Amino acid sequence: MALVFDVITNLFRKRATVLYPEERKEEPGTFRGVLGFERSLCIGCGLCWRVCPASAIEASRDEKGARPVFHLDRCIYCYLCVEVCPRKAIKASSRRAPAVEDKRKLEVS
Ligand code: SF4
Ligand code: SF4
Repeated sequence: MALVFDVITNLFRKRATVLYPEERKEEPGTFRGVLGFERSLCIGCGLCWRVCPASAIEASRDEKGARPVFHLDRCIYCYLCVEVCPRKAIKASSRRAPAVEDKRKLEVS
């Protein structure tokens, strides 16, 4: 009998969960999201890939020299690279990393 009472009561209660992804709660102001990279600002100093504790930044070469490639599947969102970049080429954001089947889609370059 108690079970039936609980079921009926819960039918009229306000939902405690969110219907994700149709409904999304706003991230708190301190939320650390995926990195953005403005390649034109980068001077290839290498500080970001030297400081990254998760080895999530790989150096790749182009016609201008070495440039970072960010592997967001390894990133721990410590933002050390954001702090250390002398050109402010790496940007913090509040965007969540998308769910992907192929982790190469989580590369930022
Ligand atoms: S936020 Fe931290 S873990 Fe992620 S790429 Fe930058 S230094 Fe590496
Ligand atoms: S620290 Fe900044 S300027 Fe230096 S290589 Fe990384 S992104 Fe480029």
